[in-house]
Amino acid sequence: MKGTQLSTPPSPGQARITALETYDIRFPTSRELDGSDAMNPDPDYSAAYLVLRTDAGDGLEGHGFTFTIGRGNDVQVAAIDALRPYLLGRCVEEVCADPGSVYRDLNGDSQLRWLGPEKGVMHMAVGAVVNAVWDLAAKRAGLPLWQFLADADPQWLVSQVDFRYIADALTPEQALELLRDGKKGAAERATELRRQGYPAYTTSPGWLGYSDEKLVRLANEALAAGFRQIKLKVGADLEDDIRRCRTARATIGPDIRMAIDANQRWNVDEAVAWTKALAEFDPYWIEEPTSPDDVLGHAAIRERVAPIRVATGEHVQNRVVFKQLLQAGAIDVLQLDSTRVGGVNENLAILLLAAKFGVPVCPHAGGVGLCELVRHLSMFDFVALTGTTEGRAVEFADHLHEHFVDPAVIRDGHYVAPSLPGFSAELRPEAVDTYRYPAGAFWAADLAHRQAETAEVPA
Ligand SMILES: [Mg+2]
Repeated sequence: MKGTQLSTPPSPGQARITALETYDIRFPTSRELDGSDAMNPDPDYSAAYLVLRTDAGDGLEGHGFTFTIGRGNDVQVAAIDALRPYLLGRCVEEVCADPGSVYRDLNGDSQLRWLGPEKGVMHMAVGAVVNAVWDLAAKRAGLPLWQFLADADPQWLVSQVDFRYIADALTPEQALELLRDGKKGAAERATELRRQGYPAYTTSPGWLGYSDEKLVRLANEALAAGFRQIKLKVGADLEDDIRRCRTARATIGPDIRMAIDANQRWNVDEAVAWTKALAEFDPYWIEEPTSPDDVLGHAAIRERVAPIRVATGEHVQNRVVFKQLLQAGAIDVLQLDSTRVGGVNENLAILLLAAKFGVPVCPHAGGVGLCELVRHLSMFDFVALTGTTEGRAVEFADHLHEHFVDPAVIRDGHYVAPSLPGFSAELRPEAVDTYRYPAGAFWAADLAHRQAETAEVPA
């Protein structure tokens, strides 16, 4: 009888989550200095990746991941493994009808909570799992995530948000009003989105480790590809930054936006002085000038470098810090990240906070798969929340998209709206086989090569 049960899919409503598989995936990006900045000179872009399997018999899986830059990806995978007991055996229909139930349960584990609360490795693990649930939910609905969210009932979306610690800045009633307003004209905006896509800007020309020649070539390519904004990494050496900013500005002309990004390199006074030293090149914003936890430091910098905008968010750990950045008037641009916080649920809270304060969201992306994911959140925001792309663009970096089943596509400087169901988090099986660390084909060959080199060195 047992065999019969295993081979026959359960009736709808009875299907369970049967597995949460994890994978340590690392790409050797440090060898080309792709992604290099003032704080992270040699990143190996990595994903702590997971797959949720069910016994529904419909072939659908939930995929999720969080992004790291190499060492420590195993720690991140271990954190996701620690959440497995919360998922196994759960009713698929129930979790997909209420992904917030998973978000609340994972964040509410009283023992795991000590590792945060709601910050760091454990919180990123929660985000990866929660995003996998949303992926599964959107696939079961047959919709790309942006549309799944845009079509959702505002009251239900409000039920997906955790208002604890943010209700002093945004109440459920205010969130509901924002979402109801966002529904007006949503169908027309969805049509516009499918036709035009969502504005993107590119960081590809500006990695710190690139030569000036490569910077010029890639900046010209960005213009030819229709981008209206590029970004340069700064903060390692002021003379170099002045030369690179001058070179970039001369290449792109006065009308293309040029943002600069210090990746948390400076103290407050240093941030002000360095930014002012680059002001003649008309930077559109200064990104991560100092510690992502320093709300008042960002506020002070913003006051002193105006009219240059201040942007941050890729390392902001949760909705509470975003709330404070907004309350303190510390940022002009909010750069949420799809995998840093507690998944779609917490990013809904952050989008709503930004909408309430009228601060544009220009999400962080790049890395592994961040472009694939975060485009969905901005597209939802445009279609069914703020209703505008004014002053907004999603970051784009031209790395590693080929490893995804539903890769980010740029057309005329815009992200094309994804049409495949889900959250676009699924890696191609050959990418998993090749870049799984340390046993995947690439890393095994790399290790063998290094061992052979070591053996050749005379004692
Ligand atoms: Mg950045």
